[in-house]
Amino acid sequence: MDKGWAEKIKQVHTLIGKEKTFKEGIEQLIGFRQELFGQITQIVNGYPDEAFWQMPYANADGNHSGTLAWSIWHIFRIEDIVAHTLIANDEQVFFASDHQKRIGSPIITTGNELQGEEIVSFSKKLDVPALYDYAGAVMASTNGLLQGLDHKAAKRKFTDPDKERVAASGCVSADGNAVWLIEYWCGKDILGLIRMPFSRHWVMHIEAMRRIKNKLCKDARKGVDPAAYCGLSCDHCFLAEWCGSCRTKYNTCSYATIFEDRRCPNAACCQDRGLDGCYECPELESCTKGFYEPGNDGANAAKAQAMFIRKYGKKALLKTHDKLHERYDFAKTQEILGQDMHEGLRILEREYNG
Ligand code: SF4
Ligand code: SF4
Repeated sequence: MDKGWAEKIKQVHTLIGKEKTFKEGIEQLIGFRQELFGQITQIVNGYPDEAFWQMPYANADGNHSGTLAWSIWHIFRIEDIVAHTLIANDEQVFFASDHQKRIGSPIITTGNELQGEEIVSFSKKLDVPALYDYAGAVMASTNGLLQGLDHKAAKRKFTDPDKERVAASGCVSADGNAVWLIEYWCGKDILGLIRMPFSRHWVMHIEAMRRIKNKLCKDARKGVDPAAYCGLSCDHCFLAEWCGSCRTKYNTCSYATIFEDRRCPNAACCQDRGLDGCYECPELESCTKGFYEPGNDGANAAKAQAMFIRKYGKKALLKTHDKLHERYDFAKTQEILGQDMHEGLRILEREYNG
């Protein structure tokens, strides 16, 4: 588990375990859930439609063997069922606002019963933006439920009628891979449910989503020119886990995803002008588009790399990057190349010729 996340979970679980610190623990949990939800938001906002049904780890043993869409579905169906049908004994968010129709799901269950190709075919049917809206609504609803609890109420245990109600809802499949969930949930008190479906379960599946999207990006970059339109090297980019190159459908770097058409302005401009990259453009030095906007502290380092490609070619840039990364520990190229494009070019040339 991500070390930072493991630490946060541990802290929340300790705090909610004591009456005195219960409320503080709940507030920390809500903040942590918001942070985790941010990962889902980034994926939903950035990735192409096909990413949500692809299964890059189909034969693996673990949560990452599913799809991105199934993972979102599963996290929030479980939370909705547990929060409303089991704990609050009221209507699930899913039914209250007709989310099933909007999402286009053929099922109302947690999805545990689906296997292999069934997960792919299920994922293809889902409207991802509608699924994301549902996930956000479930998170908000559960946050309200958590804030209304005190330590004493959180120690409530469940009874046979509670079990029967969950079973009768039809939201947990009778399949062997799913039906155990009812016993599992009902064997815990509310504190136990906060520890699993409302916190740890999120981390497990969001980590799986990160593995899936990392692999999709890696696969997308295979055989693709590693020189980005702006002059950076995708092979050496610190964003490579989130981005599958501006030359592919996985052009999911933060610059592309802030624009409505999800295209990096430098990539779009080069394509419109029929250029292989900004290094072929006579306006490079004075350009303020996209990644080169003056407010971006990486603009001049990227320009220095584009200028270097113009002079020495792409292979030379990649080789120089290898040398720089061997010698220095850095993430962003401006840490080494600075804020002046001409000086940045000189640094690259020194390294290349050295
Ligand atoms: S952010 Fe740019 S350099 Fe980095 S991987 Fe994406 S396209 Fe390549
Ligand atoms: S105008 Fe700017 S963004 Fe467009 S190709 Fe030239 S350098 Fe690149």
